[in-house]
Amino acid sequence: LKDLMISEAATAALRGRLAGSLATPGEPEYEELRQSWNSSARQRPALVVAPSDADDVAAAVRFAADHGRRVAVQSTGHGAAGVVGEDVLLLNMRGLDEVRIDVDRCTATICAGATWGAVAQAAEPSGLAGVAGTASGVGVAGYTFHGGMGWMARAHGLGSASLMGVEYVDAEGVVRHADEKHDPDALWAFRGGAGVGVATRVELRLWRHPRVYAGARFWSLEHAPLVLERWLDWSQGLPESITSLAWAFQAPDVPAVPEWYRGRSMLALGACGLELETDRASVEGLFAELPEPLMDTFSVRPPSELGLVQPSPPGPVPSRGDGRLLRRFDASAAADVLRASGIGSGGPLISIEIRHLGGRAADPQVPGALTSLPGEFLLAAVGAAATSEQATAVDAAFGRLGEAAAPIDLGRAVAAFRGGRTDAPGALDPVVRERLRELRQARDPERRFHRPKDLGA
Ligand SMILES: Cc1cc2nc3c(=O)[nH]c(=O)nc-3n(C[C@H](O)[C@H](O)[C@H](O)COP(=O)(O)OP(=O)(O)OC[C@H]3O[C@@H](n4cnc5c(N)ncnc54)[C@H](O)[C@@H]3O)c2cc1C
Repeated sequence: LKDLMISEAATAALRGRLAGSLATPGEPEYEELRQSWNSSARQRPALVVAPSDADDVAAAVRFAADHGRRVAVQSTGHGAAGVVGEDVLLLNMRGLDEVRIDVDRCTATICAGATWGAVAQAAEPSGLAGVAGTASGVGVAGYTFHGGMGWMARAHGLGSASLMGVEYVDAEGVVRHADEKHDPDALWAFRGGAGVGVATRVELRLWRHPRVYAGARFWSLEHAPLVLERWLDWSQGLPESITSLAWAFQAPDVPAVPEWYRGRSMLALGACGLELETDRASVEGLFAELPEPLMDTFSVRPPSELGLVQPSPPGPVPSRGDGRLLRRFDASAAADVLRASGIGSGGPLISIEIRHLGGRAADPQVPGALTSLPGEFLLAAVGAAATSEQATAVDAAFGRLGEAAAPIDLGRAVAAFRGGRTDAPGALDPVVRERLRELRQARDPERRFHRPKDLGA
């Protein structure tokens, strides 16, 4: 792409055309609009546009094309990584946050800047819920377009499998619509393959769950071997209505962290059961075999509270993550991985996490670039990376973790969990990757759209 000068007159003309706002470096709004949740990304675009509607997005894409700029898009910046520089126009979608619920069809129409928290608030009065992830501040768009592995994944599949339609702006700056009947190729690409344009609105399937049985139990780290062994035994043969995960963490000793775990290393087990009575009995059966926890947050609660089960900071946070698919996981692998992680001995990682997959999370029936995850478990890890030295230390820790998990590793990264990183080797099946590459070549031959994550397509 040619990097052409953007004159003040051209910027003013675009500003005049937008219903939303625009900021260039030096303007007061710029610093806030360019900010991403993951602040390890270096984002200093030529300009940031905060659109109010699809026409604003289309005007911004055409402006970028006229001035030889690429287009990057973010709703929250949880998935931000790498460098967004002078050659890029950044679309900050967070003002596009309307959520409409269709109770009869069990669907939500969600503008592309909305978070899962906003969807939960809108859906809950009707007893409905979407397939949200663990953090309510994560954006629906980026989550869905990268797969989306959430609290209901074993029962209802990945977020991408719930995507029924997308309104998007293509590389020419034209507003289009994709669903299973119209432009199914584009829908396929948005389902886990990061799409072929800037989505302005998505239609998602919802599920009837006025209440869930969910929470977490926390133990000091010395109980980890026993707790993990029992949890892994229990997870075999579980109904699909229960999705569970275990995480070990060393919490920073800072005032923002609640006092009861500030500066401590712990192991937690979290679960969400959709069959209130039977799943509760099953979870309680597991806990009866385990030591008394330091904290127990399990209860029957509205799904909007799922975002509280695994605490996450409000951001911005300079973090770096890893995510791998595991063929299986057992007590001896758990011991190796925990030892290699350095959790509890002051290593650079903040947490490691094992998510139980299977059920509908492994069901490839919905066509899409990534609508299912093979393997029985997902291993994820996060470290703080405010400086390049920290990033190097975190990557070395990921390397040690990877070596420990090598015998059970499927050789596939999970792109969504590689926060702050620009690559995700093996995230897509090779045949899928080739189809996505061809589709992008046809729809965006000039590579107008900048994506922080290289899916090899
Ligand atoms: C604290 C935390 C918890 C998480 N929990 C989970 C979890 O439980 N399960 C899970 O699967 N993932 C989880 N993730 C990963 C998360 O799903 C990804 O980082 C996701 O990409 C974030 O989407 P976003 O829209 O919030 O972020 P953004 O950074 O705004 O978007 C990420 C990318 O998505 C694409 N994108 C965003 N909006 C649009 C749009 N309108 N049109 C086209 N493309 C768009 C762009 O390529 C963009 O760079 C978590 C991440 C964090 C930091």
